[in-house]
Amino acid sequence: MKALVWFTDNLRVADHPLLSMACRDSERVEAVYCFDPKSLEEDVLQQPKMGPYRAKFLMETLAELQEQLHNLHIPFHILVGPAKQVLTRFIRQRNDTHLYVQKVWHSEETRQVQSVLSPLDSSVTVLRAYDQFLIDPDQLPYALDRLPKVFTPFRKDIEHQVMVREPLAIPEKRPLDHFVHTGYVDPQFTSIDKTLRSKATDKRTAFPFKGGETQALKRLHDYFWGTDAVATYKETRNEMIGSNYSTKFSAWLANGSISPKTIYAALKQYESECIANQSTYWVFFELLWRDFFKYIGLKHQNKIFAHGGILNKTFAQGRDPEVFNKWITGQTPDQFVNAHMIELAKTGWMSNRGRQNVASYWAKTLGQDWRSGAAYFESALIDYDVDANWGNWMYTSGVGNDPRDRVFNTSRQADMYDPDGAFRQLWLTDQ
Ligand SMILES: Cc1cc2nc3c(=O)[nH]c(=O)nc-3n(C[C@H](O)[C@H](O)[C@H](O)COP(=O)(O)OP(=O)(O)OC[C@H]3O[C@@H](n4cnc5c(N)ncnc54)[C@H](O)[C@@H]3O)c2cc1C
Repeated sequence: MKALVWFTDNLRVADHPLLSMACRDSERVEAVYCFDPKSLEEDVLQQPKMGPYRAKFLMETLAELQEQLHNLHIPFHILVGPAKQVLTRFIRQRNDTHLYVQKVWHSEETRQVQSVLSPLDSSVTVLRAYDQFLIDPDQLPYALDRLPKVFTPFRKDIEHQVMVREPLAIPEKRPLDHFVHTGYVDPQFTSIDKTLRSKATDKRTAFPFKGGETQALKRLHDYFWGTDAVATYKETRNEMIGSNYSTKFSAWLANGSISPKTIYAALKQYESECIANQSTYWVFFELLWRDFFKYIGLKHQNKIFAHGGILNKTFAQGRDPEVFNKWITGQTPDQFVNAHMIELAKTGWMSNRGRQNVASYWAKTLGQDWRSGAAYFESALIDYDVDANWGNWMYTSGVGNDPRDRVFNTSRQADMYDPDGAFRQLWLTDQ
């Protein structure tokens, strides 16, 4: 039997349900990734769908994946173009009997997958699995339509009733006689890769992100055993400067170069070997927030992109291009907001504290359509994740899962979290 695994945002070899299934069930296994240059083009907001820092991170990730798959003797093909055309053609030219595809749930992703799967004939068996969760959908203690509207009951139900599953091991090396070629890489990809990787990051960046599974594991070990920073996470997580105030796992989690179960297993190991405290628990707590937003996305699907959000609320409609340009370039009257927006534009990164402030400022203080803010984040963030981004934007804008519908007082926030002005100084002074 021959199998082809279609990699999307699950760019790793450890704890990879589809790859493990394919290796278990098939004699010959190959892998494919499809890069669509359209993702680099500008959208209605005149921003690329995928900004330069995420694009660079993706290229680094693919290079590592290529090496990992090579080590497992699995040919890895990289195609360039719309999946509907290039991947469909690629599959048709082969005689794989099994195609392994991640389950997705939002319109763009679903459309893309359907455009590839629909034209296939019955000689190809399609196998699908969820890949992104800490708690798998079949472990939820209720049907999805009974998912709590707010986080706390969800967290308590999970904590009391569900055990996180062990991550899957990396599949064993395939027999060498099946590894007749390393895979086809579209020649266009090489030049795209070179251009995207040449993007330099501002030296003030909170973290020198580098894509790839081994980089993710390196960060994990460093944050846990290397520096013990995880043992003080709860105290530092609202800071805004430096590598260790938070885990920085989000960029690798977003493109799937590490799985949440791998992080959880390491956390448990750290707790048993070193220390278990409020801080180590809080990393688990935040990973549950990630799952919560994924389940909100799975339940409400495209409603998370609607103006009234999942609550069908009426909300500010503002769509002033000048206000937008001032916000994204850090030229509003609020220096705390400006410093964060400049950090984002120059690095693709912003702390959670910063994200909450600038989002509240955009949607509530400036009275603009929250979806333009979310779309800008989608473009600019190195760790863009559809459910985390749109879910948090809905939450902050009062059309999602926050029953309190708060407005951030950004000057009070600046006094609390940047009392000596060091963060503003860092980003508002040209260097
Ligand atoms: C307006 C807004 C937009 C956001 N957009 C994204 C996004 O596109 N991608 C993204 O991964 N996160 C997003 N977040 C959530 C959060 O800000 C980031 O996950 C976090 O700042 C990443 O840093 P870290 O990895 O050091 O997180 P840590 O504080 O170390 O947390 C560990 C992990 O828990 C998860 N996590 C933490 N907080 C949240 C949260 N509020 N929601 C969901 N997951 C969380 C992340 O996977 C994170 O890597 C957004 C938050 C806001 C307010």
